[in-house]
Amino acid sequence: METLEKVLDSKTEEARLYVDRVFSSVKERNPNEYEFHQAVKEVFDSLVPVLAKDPSYSKNGILERIVEPERVISFQVPWVDDHGTVQVNRGFRVQFNSAIGPYKGGIRFHPSVNTSIVKFLGFEQIFKNSLTGQPIGGGKGGADFDPKGKSDAEIMRFTQSFMSELGKHIGADTDVPAGDIGVSAREIGYMFGQYKKMRGQYEAGVLTGKGFSYGGSLARKEATGYGTVYFVEEMLKDKGLTFQGNTVVVSGSGNVSIYAMEKAIQLGGTVVACSDSNGYIYDEAGLNLDTIKRLKEVENKRISEYVKEHPQAKYINDCTAIWEVPCNIALPCATQNEIDEYHAKTLVNNGVLAVGEGANMPSTLEAVHVFQTNGVLFGPAKAVNAGGVAVSALEMAQNSMRLSWTFDEVDAKLQQIMKNIYKTSLDASYEYGDPGNLVLGANIAGFKKVADAMISQGVI
Ligand code: NAP
Repeated sequence: METLEKVLDSKTEEARLYVDRVFSSVKERNPNEYEFHQAVKEVFDSLVPVLAKDPSYSKNGILERIVEPERVISFQVPWVDDHGTVQVNRGFRVQFNSAIGPYKGGIRFHPSVNTSIVKFLGFEQIFKNSLTGQPIGGGKGGADFDPKGKSDAEIMRFTQSFMSELGKHIGADTDVPAGDIGVSAREIGYMFGQYKKMRGQYEAGVLTGKGFSYGGSLARKEATGYGTVYFVEEMLKDKGLTFQGNTVVVSGSGNVSIYAMEKAIQLGGTVVACSDSNGYIYDEAGLNLDTIKRLKEVENKRISEYVKEHPQAKYINDCTAIWEVPCNIALPCATQNEIDEYHAKTLVNNGVLAVGEGANMPSTLEAVHVFQTNGVLFGPAKAVNAGGVAVSALEMAQNSMRLSWTFDEVDAKLQQIMKNIYKTSLDASYEYGDPGNLVLGANIAGFKKVADAMISQGVI
């Protein structure tokens, strides 16, 4: 008779083969989509124990279905620049999975946007949205448009053209976009105006991240950054630590970064460095966030300008070198793959205690391995930065009820959601045999809810 151990080993082996087979087919069917492959691999590697325990997932072809977007829309975005020249960009929307709610995920305007980037972001969004505990499916969109250096009128014309196509595919109960890199309240406002004109009706819940005067939620702007810090606070608390007295490095100086810095400072951390895509600023006594906010949010200037007002600070013209700055807590809040294996090792050698991913997939798979094998508390993006989409879902709820909550009410809900995400991920890591591995825990917890809903709804 086979021993129990042998049975378990053979189930794990079967699950491993299932994962490998589907992953090979993902690579074959989606050639050159390297970011998408990376995001799928990260999730799949975590799922072996759950697939081994419950054969219904393979029987129902869940992996094969979950890696295939329900719909991919790619479209032309023509617009006229300030010199009267016609420009053409490419727009995308990936409606990835609607098992637990309408597609939900941001719009990114950046020259690097392509099918692979939008698919990796949309795929991650499925599990992130599931982790929030709210009824939202996964989607993502964007355009290879570079907002840098464009006038306000150019941004408006581009955004209206983008929405004149995207608007045919979205709706408050269908697909609800929001902001991401290069898309903030200004762009959401122009998109909302265009959508309203196209539809001839006021459908507040079709977009989130709106201005407060026309249906936005208080604390949405702060939500991703604050949520990132709330999550890291939970990781630290479990080890008897806090932000108080710790040195923090936060990459980027956009929406997520600024509000991660704000909350880290409020909790007693000293933020010594932040960056933009050109370089980083460093002041061991702590950066002045008021100056950074004014330069970035009001004056739209480069981060290098900071040192003109604070001559004791240094500017280094290399954004990746920010990870060479010694710190106890690292919060990558800029972009994908910004921490590679070398910089992960540098952070470890410099004594980093905790890493919380405010950006999406900012650490390469090799970098994550370095953190996890060196005892660093590591919070993966789909759990850590879920606060933004969680408050977006709260914005949808307020729109449906036609009321607005106060900043403190929304912030309190956000804190509770981040605590729940941490606990759910941690519990799953214990249940599936790798205590404290939040990558595994977040992937499994996010996956199970979506997969179970897909099974309940049949093969559709
Ligand atoms: P954002 O406001 O446009 O800011 C992005 C920041 O990152 C800018 O300071 C940008 O600098 C910098 N950056 C871009 N590429 C960089 C690079 N290679 N090295 C260093 N800095 C770089 O965008 P965001 O909304 O903060 O988004 C940041 C990240 O968080 C993205 O991964 C996004 O997907 C993720 N995220 C955002 C939200 C949200 O609610 N906004 C929610 C969840 C996750 P430049 O100005 O020079 O380009």
